[in-house]
Amino acid sequence: MATVELSKINKYYGSLHALKDVSLSVADGAFVVFVGPSGCGKSTLLRTIAGLESVSDGTITIDSKDVTDIEPADRDLSMVFQSYALYPHMSVRANMEFGMKVNGIAPDERKVRIKEAARVLQLSELLDRKPGQLSGGQRQRVAIGRSIVKNPKVFLFDEPLSNLDAKLRVQMRIELEALHKELDATMIYVTHDQVEAMTMADQIVVLNAGQIEQVGSPMDLYHTPASEFVAGFIGSPAMNILTIGQDLGTAISPPTKAIKIGIRPEHVQLGDTGIAGTIRVKEKLGSESYLYVMTRNDTQIVVKTDGEDKLNAGDSVHLTFRENRLHHFDAQGRTLT
Ligand code: ADP
Repeated sequence: MATVELSKINKYYGSLHALKDVSLSVADGAFVVFVGPSGCGKSTLLRTIAGLESVSDGTITIDSKDVTDIEPADRDLSMVFQSYALYPHMSVRANMEFGMKVNGIAPDERKVRIKEAARVLQLSELLDRKPGQLSGGQRQRVAIGRSIVKNPKVFLFDEPLSNLDAKLRVQMRIELEALHKELDATMIYVTHDQVEAMTMADQIVVLNAGQIEQVGSPMDLYHTPASEFVAGFIGSPAMNILTIGQDLGTAISPPTKAIKIGIRPEHVQLGDTGIAGTIRVKEKLGSESYLYVMTRNDTQIVVKTDGEDKLNAGDSVHLTFRENRLHHFDAQGRTLT
């Protein structure tokens, strides 16, 4: 177990400034998720921690030791990739054992570690199988097992669930959370999927164009996003972000510097008065529905209902916003408080 400290990390690829002054403290035993749209620098940041990319500037400290210029193999980290690249001709046991053999770990100790990792990952019955005889989820568990047996100080995951189908992704998400609790290890996890970030993280780091937009717990980010970018990125369906004047006319009276307002679909209410609009599409999910309402000036507002409503596409509705749930953004996209 270990802490990870990033201090003013900059990374250039030629003239591309891929990481801009990134500073971050990862607490011992935390599950930290880097999230953001494709190309924002998540993988680059993870790879600099792993030592697979050098930094142009800044320092990386693991467990109080400066590792900025240390080789990946000497950083005491273990990385699980999206493509788990198991050796196809080797059994599950041999796949897990291989790295330990290379590192000169004694046979008895190797056995103990494999047994324990197999128990934690529910692979005990599968140790003699070849990867070809396993499901996608089982293969991913073997890849994680290979990491566990190394007893790393920090686990790094680069979109490890992207190759799995939707149902298996949900299952593996839960297994990874359970694994984190069982191992009590520091984990850093990269994903573009904000649902994965919300469900697994103790702390989410939202990256945008190589910079940290906000760091916080999932609920912090959901309820008090620091910017329009975070507000729009975290939450599904996304927060409604509306331009004052253009989209809303005089329906809302916000602080003077506010250019836009944000309101989540669950905080928009249907009533007899308010902004008039027409339901364009109704998405029924069973326990809830989402109404995609087009207002008179062609602005779309998404409304969450409890799934019991009798409304249909084409119906006219009036919308009001729960005032204490409004977010206000200035011209730079920063949240006004
Ligand atoms: P993400 O993981 O968030 O999708 P990346 O960290 O892979 O983003 O990439 C961040 C930016 O750096 C992108 O603009 C990408 O094109 C660029 N980049 C990544 N790796 C390299 C590389 N080896 N050479 C040049 N540019 C790179």
